[in-house]
Amino acid sequence: MLDAIYKTVLMEHAKHKMNHFELKGPGSQQLYYKNPTCGDVMSLFWIVSEDDRLESVSFIGEGCSISMASVSIMTQQIKGKKIDQIAQQRQAMEQMIRIGTWDKKIDIGDAASLEGVHQLRARHNCALMGWQALDKALDSHEKYQWTIKKKNSIFK
Ligand code: ZN
Repeated sequence: MLDAIYKTVLMEHAKHKMNHFELKGPGSQQLYYKNPTCGDVMSLFWIVSEDDRLESVSFIGEGCSISMASVSIMTQQIKGKKIDQIAQQRQAMEQMIRIGTWDKKIDIGDAASLEGVHQLRARHNCALMGWQALDKALDSHEKYQWTIKKKNSIFK
């Protein structure tokens, strides 16, 4: 199902998780999240700067390769980005996993390696786990929520 090259990218991330540590310090926040369908668990850590940029992000977690690789890739994708840019990436990821295609104008980097997960319906939540946690984490950020609503989220 998963293309061989993509599989390599995923396995690399699952084995060597990026930004896998507990972020501490002034302004840092954290959230625990559990994937309802696979038993994957994670804690997300983040700092949002005053100019609505995700200054720093990290996670710790345990779970299947798809979930861990996906969260690892996500932290790379969103670190240092503006909140509204992150919301666009989140929409693209959701479309890629749930529908199988996405707005190619949005650069999702290594996350394109998760495209094949679309065909593995039971693993959709594994691939989107980090983004679902991020939805909760950025719940109070208007720009994030507004961008998502405007594009008619199909989560849930
Ligand atoms: Zn999983």
